Amino acid sequence: MAHPSVPLARVSDDPPPEVDRHGHNAPLEDCLEFVNTGRHVRGRRTNEFAGPADAIEWFAARNLAHEDARQRLLARYAADPAAGDADLELIRRVRDAMRGLLEAAVDGRVASRADLRTVNRILRTHYVYVLVPASDGIALGHRHLGDPIAGALGRLAETLARELSQGMPERLRICESPDCSEAFIDRSRTGRRRWCDMATCGNRAKAARHREKRRMLAAAGSAGVVDPTA
Ligand SMILES: [Zn+2]
Repeated sequence: MAHPSVPLARVSDDPPPEVDRHGHNAPLEDCLEFVNTGRHVRGRRTNEFAGPADAIEWFAARNLAHEDARQRLLARYAADPAAGDADLELIRRVRDAMRGLLEAAVDGRVASRADLRTVNRILRTHYVYVLVPASDGIALGHRHLGDPIAGALGRLAETLARELSQGMPERLRICESPDCSEAFIDRSRTGRRRWCDMATCGNRAKAARHREKRRMLAAAGSAGVVDPTA
């Protein structure tokens, strides 16, 4: 039987202010961008969040934290820097564990238990679905229960968890440039992309290979090795 296309209900009341109307799932692109705020560059960990406020602004700009939560947290960090440090530490720990899971999937390795524990803990963050009125009937909103940072991290972690378990993890890559290590989605037809961007990381890698080849040829020449084809 065909479902009627008319809305289930029309409610004229305004949505209660505590109900959140933004969509629940964080886009995969945002999730990878989050993972890429911490990378390995020549064996060193980088971190784009210099302070907790940077992270909150990042969440708010991607609709992962509501405006009232953003203002409340920024005021709290200003008054209590230790609270900010603790939140930033949690954000970095979850992000690095998410990168760990992603890298294990890309390499075809078993994920580390510590990374799984960290991500599993944040996946337990609670929200409840709530139906709210919309101009064309009703929409599915949700309400966060508890800490807004755990809520933002939980949504990012859930997107990664779904992609790794039910999505297309075989499309995920880590850029092979040792100066980059950016996580990206390989959308090429052949599915054999090695660098996040051919114009930057790909060209740098080619130039480095070329330099290395010339260096080896020069070393062979100075050692008295004669190239018979010359
Ligand atoms: Zn790259």
